[in-house]
Amino acid sequence: MKETLRLGHIAGVRVGVNWTVLVIFTLIFVGLAAGQFPMTYEGRPTWAYAVAGGIAAVLFFLSLLAHELAHAIVARRNGIEVEGIVLWLFGGVAKLLGEAEDPATDLRVAGVGPLVSLVLAAGFGALALAFSGLGLTGLPLAVVGWLAVINAVLAVFNLVPAAPLDGGRVLRALIWRRTGDRTRAAVAASRAGRTFGILLVALGLAEIILVPGFGGLWFMLIGWFIMAAAGAEEQHAQVTSRLGGVLVRDVMSHPVVTVPEHLSVAELVEQYVWASRHSSFPVVDGDGAPRGLITLGHIREVPAEQRHTTSVRATARPLDEVVTVTPATPLTEVLAPLSSSGERRALVLDEHDRLVGLVSTTDLTRAIELSELGRPHERTHL
Ligand SMILES: [Zn+2]
Repeated sequence: MKETLRLGHIAGVRVGVNWTVLVIFTLIFVGLAAGQFPMTYEGRPTWAYAVAGGIAAVLFFLSLLAHELAHAIVARRNGIEVEGIVLWLFGGVAKLLGEAEDPATDLRVAGVGPLVSLVLAAGFGALALAFSGLGLTGLPLAVVGWLAVINAVLAVFNLVPAAPLDGGRVLRALIWRRTGDRTRAAVAASRAGRTFGILLVALGLAEIILVPGFGGLWFMLIGWFIMAAAGAEEQHAQVTSRLGGVLVRDVMSHPVVTVPEHLSVAELVEQYVWASRHSSFPVVDGDGAPRGLITLGHIREVPAEQRHTTSVRATARPLDEVVTVTPATPLTEVLAPLSSSGERRALVLDEHDRLVGLVSTTDLTRAIELSELGRPHERTHL
């Protein structure tokens, strides 16, 4: 789920929303303001139901945000790079670029989310008690009461031991701790996830047949999503384990054809693009120091009539926006940043920031395919 709108940073973590969040927001708002609240508390003006529904929906999303922020902050504290949080159709996702190095960290990062939801449930529950003690038994009580219940549901649902739910990650951490085998643990948690997904789809289908309405469809959607995500996770675990020990230097392309930054785009096309089979070129300055990366995609964005007057420097992706790795970076750490980068390529720089190679998603795919052929990787550990 891509972020459609960036909201900003909270505690240093990038927070964004995907447009599908509007669907769930509308469902909650309408469900409360036009359904549950008027049914439970009759005779209030329409605006009162709308305000109560609006407050409940906004606080629900803030609760969701707190849950995801907890994952992100604990991950970052444990040395896992965090790309950001995105709220979408099925709640929130904290996108982590790395993985836990030990089962205890895995457990902490996974467990803190449901823990925060439980604490919020207890907090709203206490507030509900206080409200009824103060005689505020109308819509204010309805709002905090609903928030207590929904946060508890969120915690419990997320604790189901099925990846990609938090409970699945907890399961993974526990199996990992017991067996010492991370791949086996991840595969087991993912298979549990797939089973749970199938179960939800079946439940949803049964509900659609037995009960009129859209509730069943919702279960089916969530189940289908969990199934797909669990399958992807299992594959990722297998790939990561196959690539274990393989370093960037084992698969990178080198030497690479570099382009001086002072060329015009037209010169680049004539002298380099037509003359080589490459689709991307590292850009260097007069001393050969890397300055960025230019791809056929970037060149295509420059209209033909402007290519003589536009420089390579102005067109290339600058170095600080390009993924850079070292020859000794494990390939498993390159997977996530590379596949989320626009260029799908990373520059390989040595310890003196000199350009020594280029690694692309094609190189990664090839490494994975070779490992599937059973060819042992050349280990370059010294
Ligand atoms: Zn979570």
